[in-house]
Amino acid sequence: MRKPLVVVGAGIAGLSVALSAAPRPVWLVSRGRPGEASASALAQGGVAAALGEGDDPAQHAQDTLVAGAGHNDEENVHWLVSQAASAIAWLAGQGVCFDRDASGYCLGREGGHGRHRIVHARGDATGAAIVAALAARAETAAHITWFDAHALQGIGLRAGRVAGVRLADAAGETVGLQAADVVLATGGIGALFAATTNPPGADGAGLALALEAGAQARDLEFIQFHPTALAVDVGGPLPLLTEALRGAGAVLRDGDGHALMAGRHPLGDLAPRDVVAREVWRERHAGGSAWLDATALGDRLASDFPTALAIGRAQGIDPRRQWLPVAPAAHFHMGGVSVDALGRSTVPGLHAVGEVACNGVHGANRLASNSLLEGVAFGRRLGAWLASHASAPGATADEWITLGDDAPPCDLRTLRCLLAQSLGPVRDGDGLRRALAEIAATPGLSQAWQGRLATRLLHAALARRDSLGAHWREDTPAGPSIHQRIATPAYGEIP
Ligand SMILES: Cc1cc2nc3c(=O)[nH]c(=O)nc-3n(C[C@H](O)[C@H](O)[C@H](O)COP(=O)(O)OP(=O)(O)OC[C@H]3O[C@@H](n4cnc5c(N)ncnc54)[C@H](O)[C@@H]3O)c2cc1C
Repeated sequence: MRKPLVVVGAGIAGLSVALSAAPRPVWLVSRGRPGEASASALAQGGVAAALGEGDDPAQHAQDTLVAGAGHNDEENVHWLVSQAASAIAWLAGQGVCFDRDASGYCLGREGGHGRHRIVHARGDATGAAIVAALAARAETAAHITWFDAHALQGIGLRAGRVAGVRLADAAGETVGLQAADVVLATGGIGALFAATTNPPGADGAGLALALEAGAQARDLEFIQFHPTALAVDVGGPLPLLTEALRGAGAVLRDGDGHALMAGRHPLGDLAPRDVVAREVWRERHAGGSAWLDATALGDRLASDFPTALAIGRAQGIDPRRQWLPVAPAAHFHMGGVSVDALGRSTVPGLHAVGEVACNGVHGANRLASNSLLEGVAFGRRLGAWLASHASAPGATADEWITLGDDAPPCDLRTLRCLLAQSLGPVRDGDGLRRALAEIAATPGLSQAWQGRLATRLLHAALARRDSLGAHWREDTPAGPSIHQRIATPAYGEIP
């Protein structure tokens, strides 16, 4: 009998691992009900795949490297884009109904992409469609036992190797699972920031535990800010206005109605996300405002962007006639648990995949819609490998790594504001040092795992003195321009 494998996280990455690990038994752990509380379910734009006429994986790879400021692991990038067609086919086989027309998949366009290559489902409700299909499969899969409403609390080690996990169930009772292989698929860290598009559960607990267990981290300073979160006070995650809106013709405007990106980047509104986020940030910090004008899309909003239309209407704004106020918000963590191409961390038996992991594929700035693709492609690869490799026999843990204290709610609010100010789209050394000092001087933060994780992020940002991709330091000279290292592809005009 094969020893079960623990997968923590039921977003696209965790579900892809769990389904692909058959016939090996999988204990699938998630905080919410199947598919709930994941960033995956919120994804709007879609999955990048070079399926259109005149497109190919080499062009997709080139766009990924340009967006990532050349900081990417090139081998992993080439592998990722080569897997896109089979990832889409696999998802379709799991029951995801992607939008199609007579010529095949409908392909949208997003920032940094030289071609139309975003496969989507139900218009801009792609993530919800994918998660619903995969969760339905996982719920009926004979090899998967689901521990929903369970939170990861600790990782057990024996002689430095993973031996199991400790969970807390909904009633707060501790549940122990003995396993020699544990996969972290716990998503990102956006919930540590005051303004974010991420769900509240994207608090970095999985990343924090892995680091406490001694796993090596990579690229922690690279945090992506989405330029067009709806700038309204909703008392939680900010609603996202997908980049695909700009791909379809929406335009960013300043408070005077001028095109905000005009003359600021050759790709204008479809410049890479870090560039657009900085321009929106600068406009607002100079006392101005930023707006997304999607009025040109007219009735296409109802058919192609029902989520965006509903988001506007919920705030009393009709995007067919009115501009939407926008602001940058923490959106995606390029850094994370350092893993190899299979997803193995430096702690034997501890694996990571999806947003919590860093295999270098996104470099210093993720290309839009490459994240769902990463979750499926690397998730399937890791699942298949774990299904076939001979895991060490299970052993009882002789050491437990736990998160320890949570920050009190008022200190957590302070931390979120501190990180939004100091680790935002534009940073400087003084701001980073001030944030570190404030965490150290606040017992509720310095002794809590959130404070320790934030300290790691701030130190990583302080250590990288040059500006690169999403890590922009106002106080040091910019690193070598991407254009000096990777030629921007000579695409035609954006139709
Ligand atoms: C609003 C929004 C729109 C986006 N749009 C796109 C897009 O169009 N295309 C694209 O490619 N990417 C998009 N992204 C990014 C993408 O959705 C995420 O990067 C990706 O879905 C991450 O998948 P994941 O499986 O790694 O993590 P998630 O989907 O976040 O799943 C994490 C899972 O881990 C569980 N978990 C976390 N901590 C614990 C714990 N301590 N114990 C137990 N369980 C835990 C959660 O409950 C959840 O099940 C978007 C992100 C957001 C927020």
